[in-house]
This record gives sequence, C-alpha cells and structure tokens, in this order.
Amino acid sequence: MKILLISDKVVEHIYSNNIADRLSDISFVISCGDLPAYYLEFIVSTLNKPLFYVLGNHDINKIYTEGGIKSGLPEGCINLDQKVIEYNGVILMGLEGSMRYSGGDYQYSEAQMCRKINRLKPALYKNKIFKKRYVDIVVTHAPPFKVHDGKDLCHTGFKCFNDFIKKYKPKYLVHGHVHTYGTANNWETTINDTKVINAYGYRIIEI
Ligand SMILES: [Zn+2]
Repeated sequence: MKILLISDKVVEHIYSNNIADRLSDISFVISCGDLPAYYLEFIVSTLNKPLFYVLGNHDINKIYTEGGIKSGLPEGCINLDQKVIEYNGVILMGLEGSMRYSGGDYQYSEAQMCRKINRLKPALYKNKIFKKRYVDIVVTHAPPFKVHDGKDLCHTGFKCFNDFIKKYKPKYLVHGHVHTYGTANNWETTINDTKVINAYGYRIIEI
C-alpha cells in the first residue's frame, strides 16, 4: 500500500491537475503540517482519497473576514492530532505542533507533549491486545530529539518521541518542520524497528 506524505512546502509536482492519474495507486495522504488549507483541499478533492493531517507551528486556525471569523482548517480532511485511527488496516496516530518557543498556537513544552502522548495510551494498549501492535504510523510535525532536528529551540525535537519509538515500536514516524535542501540533509533514519522520515515537500512510502 502506497501513502503520499506532504509537509511544509507547496510542491508544483503535487499541486497539479494530473495527480489523479499520476498518483492513482496512492491509498491515502498524510500531511505533517505548515501547509495552507487550500493545498490540502486541492489534494483531497483532486486525488479523491482520504487526507489525514496534523498542524504545524505556522498553521492558522482562524481567518478574519468581513463576514466574521472563519475556520482556517482544511475542509474535507481529517485532523489526526491526539487521535488513534485505523484506516484500511493501517493504525495511525497524530501529535501536532512544535517545541514551545514564542507562545503561539501549536507550540508545546516537552511536558505538554508527554501529556498528549499519555492521553493516547488507553487506545494504544487496546490495539496491542486486539490487533497485536500499538500503532503503525506516528504522524508529527516536529522530529524526535537529535533526529533530523535543529539546534534552535523552535526546531529542537521532542525527547518523548524518542521514548515513544523505543517502547511502542511503530513502523514509521513521519514528521515535517525541518527544511531539507538537496541531499545535504538526512531525511530518513532507522531507529530500532522504526523508520523516521522527514516528509518536507513530499515523499511516498509503502507499508
Ligand atoms: Zn514548523
């Protein structure tokens, strides 16, 4: 099964009317954040496949118009934050946001992110009992600590993601937030049983 990952940057190759033909073998789409709602709405309506997303630190949830405040969230897409969802036999969970650096929306301290994970534990344990695994794909905006992350506070990864990988052994942790240029940066790292993938721009994974 092929899954399209997108994050952080609008890519012309994807923002194109012929994706329905070119990407017809994609089962569903995952967005790792910091992308405009119109881009996600275009993909979900053109590809006609489900799109699961988490928000990033640059996303906005409100648009101020003459007629009042409108939701800035993408329509027809599924917000995965702090949820565990099974689709087509693949168990997904999502954790939005980045490290807290300026107090804006979708920024969390290490302790706050830890609490977000704790709230998902009942669902994860239920999966372990009935489906023999906790989760297949963890969708985040920020990376784990010292894995593809940056040195500044905004781009520092979360240590609780590293602990999560070791304990719950997902097949993938896919994230965005860290911009890669050419082949200079690592965008795929394997930690024990988990492939950590930076989805910056777009990637296609198979599961
Ligand atoms: Zn970001």
